[in-house]
Amino acid sequence: MQSAGEQLKKVRWVELHFVDVAGHLRSVAVPSREVDDKAFKQGLNLLDGSSVEGFAGIHESDYRLRPDPSTFAVIPWAKDTGRMISDVYSTEGRFPKDPRYIADRAMEYLASQGLEAYFGPEVEFMLVDGLFLDVETPTKGLGYRVVSREYMDYEEELGFQRTKKAYHTPSPIDKVAAVRYEIASVLEDYFGFRVESHHHEVAALGQVEIDFRFGDLKTTADRVVTLKYVARNVAAKHGMAATFMPKLVAGDNGNGMHVHVSLWDRSSGRNLFYDPSDEYAELSQTARYFIGGILEHGRALAAIVAPTVNSYRRLVPGYEAPVYLVWGKANRSAAIRIPFYEKGVEKAKRIEFRSPDPTANPYLAFAAILAAGLDGIKKKIEPGDPVDRNVYEMGEEERRRLGIKQLPRSLDEALDELESDNEFLKPIFTRDILEAYIDVKRREAMELRQYPNPVEVYMYFNL
Ligand code: GLU
Ligand code: MG
Ligand code: MG
Repeated sequence: MQSAGEQLKKVRWVELHFVDVAGHLRSVAVPSREVDDKAFKQGLNLLDGSSVEGFAGIHESDYRLRPDPSTFAVIPWAKDTGRMISDVYSTEGRFPKDPRYIADRAMEYLASQGLEAYFGPEVEFMLVDGLFLDVETPTKGLGYRVVSREYMDYEEELGFQRTKKAYHTPSPIDKVAAVRYEIASVLEDYFGFRVESHHHEVAALGQVEIDFRFGDLKTTADRVVTLKYVARNVAAKHGMAATFMPKLVAGDNGNGMHVHVSLWDRSSGRNLFYDPSDEYAELSQTARYFIGGILEHGRALAAIVAPTVNSYRRLVPGYEAPVYLVWGKANRSAAIRIPFYEKGVEKAKRIEFRSPDPTANPYLAFAAILAAGLDGIKKKIEPGDPVDRNVYEMGEEERRRLGIKQLPRSLDEALDELESDNEFLKPIFTRDILEAYIDVKRREAMELRQYPNPVEVYMYFNL
């Protein structure tokens, strides 16, 4: 391994990256000579926090960015440029609203209990024609095509269903395969990923999934941020756009970010989720409590793992996205699944949480999932019996009898839950970030509430 100093000599510019409270990537470029020992120790004075949503403090707005040398990568589409993910510092030390700080706190909390956790997200997104960029130029006509309406009308015209049928479509039918390959290669060759597989997903409109090897909480959150950055840039190079919106097209599958988690004991090196004596799924009591915690806090958690107004258009019946807070083995309508059950394989024992989508701030999402799970262990929260039937098809009555809770139906409903159920986050989250987060998200929901959307116009125009 070359030291950061040696690697820096290879580039003229360095982009320093960090994410804001909602999870937007932010970037500032400096000449590589500025990234010296002092920068690594104290950070660079580059950040006016008052211009970053959610960061603004009342008493101060000057923050420092301290690049993390382990995240250095050469950016292949830019000339002589590298990037480093950075931590945000205020004059008093780590900035409490920096999402990456929450990831560090989560790692420390785990270590203090002699634990280790691994995270493996399945990031789904869509590669779409550059025309979609018109969404960002509202001066051009409506600036937004009524995509799903056109799409559904077209299906009707064709007389057969095109939606939900594109799983594992090969090229040349898959028109975006080459771009997907390029994204996966760049992730491996330049950004240190170990890609495990990539494929065309179920939705018809260029839906892609790229899976990479699991890792610790912080590294994996960094990778989600990196994957989105790389996908967007490679797509742009081809005149396309990558979007991680949970639901781009009504009537077809949305973009999820299922999160696989396992919990390990540091000293013995054992997977705490594994118990060969359990007949249902070789799942330990610890894993059951962890699941219990996620289901118990699942409604509040939604505000962090499914954090946009658009997220709740994905969490509806019929599109492999969860609606109910239950767990099961092979159940795609459940919020938690025990995937790829192989008998006797300790290292593969994990749970798959299906509510998250890729608009989540990954640092906060992984930290919150962990906090909910560990709270379940601490309080011995039983998850109830597994459900291996399609919950969508159960009647209301049966669901009530089984005590099955439903995920929130809107961002505001999720935020109401988070406001009343957040004690479980306290060992990891700072109060500042929780307040800033709720504030940013409330404003986002409020803003969108004021805009009539195109389908709404279609429905009500003549009423
Ligand atoms: N796209 C689905 C979702 O929104 C998931 C499909 C799958 O099981 O991979 O969660
Ligand atoms: Mg998938
Ligand atoms: Mg999955």
